[in-house]
Amino acid sequence: MKTLLLEEMSWLQVKNAMEQGYRRAIFALGSIEQHGPHLPLVTDTLLGDALATRVATKLGNTLVAPTIRPGCSEHHMSFPGSLSISSELLSAITRAYCENLAHHGFQEILLLPSHGGNFPTVARIVPELARDIPAKIVGYSDIYDFMRVVDAIAAKHGIASPQAGAHAGGSETSMVLAARADLVDRDHAQPGFIGDFVAESRKFQAGKAGFDMKMENFSPLGILGDPTNANVELGRDLIEGLAEHLAAFYRAAVA
Ligand SMILES: [Zn+2]
Repeated sequence: MKTLLLEEMSWLQVKNAMEQGYRRAIFALGSIEQHGPHLPLVTDTLLGDALATRVATKLGNTLVAPTIRPGCSEHHMSFPGSLSISSELLSAITRAYCENLAHHGFQEILLLPSHGGNFPTVARIVPELARDIPAKIVGYSDIYDFMRVVDAIAAKHGIASPQAGAHAGGSETSMVLAARADLVDRDHAQPGFIGDFVAESRKFQAGKAGFDMKMENFSPLGILGDPTNANVELGRDLIEGLAEHLAAFYRAAVA
């Protein structure tokens, strides 16, 4: 196999791969949204590409459908350039992907949100999709589990959770350094909100469903965490560790 990316294959290559046992598809749900003054808008999408491709390699017999971009980024719209679609539209696109993939004969379809704002949509629609579509649909939708994995890996590199951050901080900046260092503007990396974002978001969610806290209420820069301590070694460990964790989740879910 020259590539696992569906969009880079011809229909003949897809047909041959499926006949050889590639009956599983994975795709990420990313975003085009602000990630501080130092990271590109495409951050969540390129991390979705990187994670989905690694998970597919680890699982075997898995092709990677294109990452959905943009995502639900209402909470970032006060920053120039962010694009946002509604949860309903993201649901409709995701449903179309799953229907199309099932139509072609994929038996297992794995959803991988790589942007925090997309997790609630995945959690909401997977039961409906599983009911309506003749394929096994598995969605990873526990954002706190995702953040726990990130924080544990960052801690091994001596970076505490408030600095690792949940958005454009030490951990996410490290992953972009590992994936596309040419897109990182380190001269503009500076600390944003330093605190317990998980506790803040739990407080918020206790009063209101969803994950739509306005970013500017936390940081006028659009950063949760401290990107100045980011480094490529941490980024590589995060991408590998997250891919391993996600692969184990999907393996257990389809078993
Ligand atoms: Zn992000």
